[in-house]
Amino acid sequence: MKAHDGMYIDGAWRPASGGESIAVVNPADEQLLGHVPAGTAEDVDAAVRAARAAFPGWAATAPAERAARLTALRDVLLARREEFADLITDELGSPRAFSHLVHAGAPIAVSGSYAQLAAEFAFEERIGNSTVYLEPVGVVGAITPWNYPLHQIVAKVAPALAAGCTIVLKPAEDTPLTAQLFAEAVDEARLPAGVFNLVTGTGVVAGQALVEHPGVDLVSFTGSTAVGRQVGATAGAAIKRFALELGGKSANVILPGADLPKAVRAGVAHVMNNAGQSCNALTRMLVQRDRYEEAVELAAAAAAEYPTGDPRREGTRIGPLINARQQSRVREYIAKGVEEGARLVTGGTEAPAGKGYFVAPTIFADVTPSMTIAQEEIFGPVLAILAYEDEEDALRIANGTSYGLGGAVWAADEETAAAFARRMETGQVDVNGGRFNPLAPFGGYKQSGVGRELGRHGLTEYLQTKSLQF
Ligand code: NAD
Repeated sequence: MKAHDGMYIDGAWRPASGGESIAVVNPADEQLLGHVPAGTAEDVDAAVRAARAAFPGWAATAPAERAARLTALRDVLLARREEFADLITDELGSPRAFSHLVHAGAPIAVSGSYAQLAAEFAFEERIGNSTVYLEPVGVVGAITPWNYPLHQIVAKVAPALAAGCTIVLKPAEDTPLTAQLFAEAVDEARLPAGVFNLVTGTGVVAGQALVEHPGVDLVSFTGSTAVGRQVGATAGAAIKRFALELGGKSANVILPGADLPKAVRAGVAHVMNNAGQSCNALTRMLVQRDRYEEAVELAAAAAAEYPTGDPRREGTRIGPLINARQQSRVREYIAKGVEEGARLVTGGTEAPAGKGYFVAPTIFADVTPSMTIAQEEIFGPVLAILAYEDEEDALRIANGTSYGLGGAVWAADEETAAAFARRMETGQVDVNGGRFNPLAPFGGYKQSGVGRELGRHGLTEYLQTKSLQF
């Protein structure tokens, strides 16, 4: 795909107001992929005006017609799946197979699910002598990160459009080409002009201008807890709605009696996928002391099955991290783990020779709950294995961080695992290897966020109620 040098506003590519641009780099070979314009407050204003102007018409469009447009969008994402997968491999460094299956595949399922929800959802209900209407909140300002560059966009745009909202998207600086390709898809799906608008740019300029804009009714942000805190404060001060999907430090709890080899393998895969750059990655593995060494050995063997390197090469399972800053951040965490006394089982700070922002799959044993690598989000292919004494101790450790996004529990039977899962302070738990469900609500307890994405619960974030009494 050739980078666009404008913004997608009001149904067309329009020249950016300023002359600044952002260079997009392939993290695997450090080659320039292209430039996109760095949006200003003026661009954001033009996009918000377009979204405001389009709002009454889109809000009044029958849900069946909104569903038809979302189906058309899903069909374009499906038809251009290979193009998205290739671009995400270049822009993010994700191995080709993972790009195809997850990065390009999940958004097809999610946009399809919202096409169906728009058609089936009851936007009106009767409660006693009242009729309650679920109406769209208005203009949405969406800010997304780079780690799942298409999924994060679709997880906001599809429910917003299904609800009848219009939207202005400010995507991450590192992956704006995927956002531009998505705007092409929206155009091809013939959504009415102004319903979806794209402003590329930096967080501090374009992102902040979007959060502060008085024409935005709801801010939906996915990214770091640090920035989320500021976004929430700014939106809150203006009495705007906001949804925050933030960081995580999720626990994979292997209870006594669980299938240890299966649980360890699945746990290692969960951390290594996407080079560890998943907000819900199971970065803490909790194992009872009497099976601890066995688990460490199994984890080391599993990590050896993750060849690191060129994401375009067949067989590569870990590509580079997104940029040099992220690479050095992750290396610093690894150094900190060693410094604080954890045992480095495999991997380490040494990067492979040559170009690209690579970090080897890394596993730490003898990690204690208070260590930095057991508390802070690393966002790289780094697993910490912790020992627990009994179930109560496991629960204390699992709940002992400021986050609560994902999680997993393995036990001899589902009842035992589910009972433990109910006591975990987190928004999602996979029971005995339960698979990701694109219809289940996704979002955080504690500092992992406010609000939910995906499925019916994700749709209601974009709706507000109006009651008429008779
Ligand atoms: P980030 O917070 O630095 O950036 C996220 C987005 O916010 C980007 O588009 C950025 O340009 C923008 N931004 C930055 N400063 C801003 C400001 N002052 N005002 C408005 N917008 C601003 O995060 P990142 O490094 O891009 O992403 C990694 C983080 O995202 C991790 O912490 C990860 O856990 C989190 N994440 C969470 C989820 C989830 O669903 N909970 C999903 C993916 C990523």
